[in-house]
Amino acid sequence: MSLSFNYAGSPAHIVFGEGVSQEVASWIEKIGCRKALVLSTPQQKGDAEALAAKIGPLAVGVFSGAVMHTPVDVTETAIRVVEESRADCVVSLGGGSTTGLGKAIAYRTDVPQIVIPTTYAGSEVTPILGQTEGGRKTTVKGAKILPEVVIYDATLTTGLPVGMSMTSGLNAMAHAVEALYAQDRNPISTLMAVEGLRAFRSALPKITTAPNDVEARAEGLYGAWLCGTVLGTVGMALHHKICHTLGGTFDTPHAETHAIMLPHTAAFNAVAVPEFLQPVAEIFGGSVGGGLWDFAKSIGAPLALRDLGLTEADLDKASQIAVENPYWNPRPIDRSSIRALLQQAWEGRRP
Ligand code: NAD
Repeated sequence: MSLSFNYAGSPAHIVFGEGVSQEVASWIEKIGCRKALVLSTPQQKGDAEALAAKIGPLAVGVFSGAVMHTPVDVTETAIRVVEESRADCVVSLGGGSTTGLGKAIAYRTDVPQIVIPTTYAGSEVTPILGQTEGGRKTTVKGAKILPEVVIYDATLTTGLPVGMSMTSGLNAMAHAVEALYAQDRNPISTLMAVEGLRAFRSALPKITTAPNDVEARAEGLYGAWLCGTVLGTVGMALHHKICHTLGGTFDTPHAETHAIMLPHTAAFNAVAVPEFLQPVAEIFGGSVGGGLWDFAKSIGAPLALRDLGLTEADLDKASQIAVENPYWNPRPIDRSSIRALLQQAWEGRRP
């Protein structure tokens, strides 16, 4: 097959290194700003206040109301705080939920964003914003949404509990696995996806036994950057659609849902495109789905959808919704194959 592709590098500026979050004030100045509002969830309010203190006179305050799924009413409240404090940029400290709030503010006001990620979700390097209003989740994409500067500092991630670290890592790995067979994949996205999977294969087992190992945490963040970048540059398929359906309809937790589904969706698609998923089998050993499942089990990640409170009746509904709006996938899907896939994931069986 002759080589043919489109490639556009992300314009985001990436700053990576132990302790680099100390430089956030200088990054605020470098992007031409003087008044930063620090964003966080209520759970990370203390860390956000400490960061604001470190930023000093360039920080105008902390808004700690970020929550999962970026509800529009929270964004509107935060924008009022931006206006009242005359903030000219936001600094998002946290996981995908906090990054989502910063993106939602930027989407409406075009203020520049600096993101300091503390999970492996990868939202900080994508131009995608998912938000909810009246119980409905919608997704928008655009240049204004992509954060300008991302500061990856592993020393800020040692507090991420081990369980969340594992599910967050598997969530990131799912971006890479789907990037390998994406219709619009290119040589760079494939290199990044494989390297991202290798990074997590190495980092996650070390983090389970030594959560304070900053080198292992840095390897995890490196994987998060690579996997997030491919999520932002190539299209996703079956895996992301199913997780979106489960999260949107049954409110299942984001990272756990991805973690449980990954071995099953990868095994399903490996039947159609074994050559594209060969690196997954090489990195995790054995078959594509079996290797990913064994890895997830070995790091203590959740394996069964039923443990998230789903019932078998929910699977009927989910399989119906998952095939309602057709989308591209390397292997054709129909309701009964999706139902069987969900059953396997519900029971937590090795694919
Ligand atoms: P999250 O941001 O909701 O974080 C989960 C919890 O962990 C929060 O309470 C948070 O405060 C806490 N936490 C985060 N880092 C911590 C740390 N280092 N120490 C202690 N506690 C910490 O979870 P997430 O999985 O990172 O993000 C999920 C959200 O991100 C979902 O809404 C998802 O849709 C979105 N997302 C969006 C994209 C995108 O490209 N738009 C990509 C991935 C995820």
